[in-house]
Amino acid sequence: MENKSIYNTSSKTIAAISTPQAPGGIGIVRISGPDARKIAGKVFTSSRGKTLDDIKGYTALYGRVHDGDEDIDEAIALNFTAPASFTGEDVVELSCHGGLYILRRVLKAVFAAGAVPAGPGEFTRRAFLNGKIGLTEAESVMQLIGAQGEQAAKAALAGHDGALEKKIRQIRESLLQMAGHLSAWADYPEEDIPEVNEGSLHATLCSVKGELERLLSQFEAGRAIREGVVTVIAGRPNVGKSTLMNLLSGCERSIVTEYAGTTRDIVEDTVILGDIPLRLSDTAGIHLTEDPVERIGVERARERIREAQLILAVFDSSQELNDEDRELVSFVLRSPAIAVVNKSDLPIKIDIKYIKENFKQIVYISALSGEGLEQLKNAVAELLHTAGLNPADGILFTERQRDAARRAEDSVSEAIVAVESGMTLDAVTVSIEGAISALLELTGERATEAVVDSVFHNFCVGK
Ligand code: GDP
Repeated sequence: MENKSIYNTSSKTIAAISTPQAPGGIGIVRISGPDARKIAGKVFTSSRGKTLDDIKGYTALYGRVHDGDEDIDEAIALNFTAPASFTGEDVVELSCHGGLYILRRVLKAVFAAGAVPAGPGEFTRRAFLNGKIGLTEAESVMQLIGAQGEQAAKAALAGHDGALEKKIRQIRESLLQMAGHLSAWADYPEEDIPEVNEGSLHATLCSVKGELERLLSQFEAGRAIREGVVTVIAGRPNVGKSTLMNLLSGCERSIVTEYAGTTRDIVEDTVILGDIPLRLSDTAGIHLTEDPVERIGVERARERIREAQLILAVFDSSQELNDEDRELVSFVLRSPAIAVVNKSDLPIKIDIKYIKENFKQIVYISALSGEGLEQLKNAVAELLHTAGLNPADGILFTERQRDAARRAEDSVSEAIVAVESGMTLDAVTVSIEGAISALLELTGERATEAVVDSVFHNFCVGK
């Protein structure tokens, strides 16, 4: 795919530090553009007297970087020749020692030699504009860099390998075939084109709609894996909230005491449960109190619960349910909550029937011993629908992609209604074309420059 025709790729040669802005063993200054070799040649001298023009792509030279006469560092210069590079342009990467001072000094020399500073995401942007990667793949470069858990990294890698793009193209292909057949039939009535079978047209449209619906419904699950979910551990005092939090965190974070009502402040922590980063807050118990300080804590807890994407409602199985427990149950009734019936190591006194009546998911756990943690993991994955997520099937992972997929789905729905209500096939074609156009936008093949800008705007310099 070549996107060059739509946008102007700059003929300038850009440069930036492509490794993190922190001390490290190795740091890389990347130079990309038509003058990459010439510019690198001004700041780098190989120890064997060869120049970058003497060597093939994918090979390297050892030597020193300097600014004029001033020696800066020893370095390896890696040579990539267009179009066989990440950006599709000539690229030279100078691998130096990782000190920030050295890298900035090298970059300054590279600028003095004629390169201009790369904008945010400009290397990846050029890769897209030169047809090296699709827009969804470019977007996953960023997801890959930011991935927190294994599943998130897998999903980003699948996106990077084009899983989403492949899926979208597949869907689009079915739509294109339908549109093609419809227009051929409408435009050349005298030709021997088989009549459009409304039954099969309807069936194909419904199957396309189903595919788009699946992608859209998995968006939130994908987001949970990537960004984590705001999670609240709620319950009356002493049911074991802090102990559960500590179990999840694997370290002592909140103060665990034997006295009710001691966890007043909300402690925050991110833990990875299974594959999902939980952004946890251990809250004060929801309970009725006259103490003004505690009341503030309780009010904050309620607020957190209202905003939470996941609530772990903790109960003490060794105690009978009291009014505070029931208050919590009624408060979280319509929320995405899991009943965590704690202290399963002790004799059971709780009215489990009441819990079963009010929660779809119940997990028995001993926060003290860790027994039941696996079940909690599974329950969370089930509630957030992350269990059945297969990155290789393609996952929408940005709002932009979701928006385009939604528009495509709306258009397909319109086409279905048009078929069902016996409207002209022209009307059906218009809706199908609307869907195709939204999908072309999704993959970046027909995205406006503003859309492309907004994608790369979120990248950092050097990517
Ligand atoms: P919170 O007020 O809800 O945060 O409760 P804590 O986490 O402070 O726990 C209250 C008490 O219950 C502490 O003495 C904990 O050691 C104890 N506890 C917590 N979880 C368990 C458990 O699974 N089994 C047993 N036997 N005791 C627990």
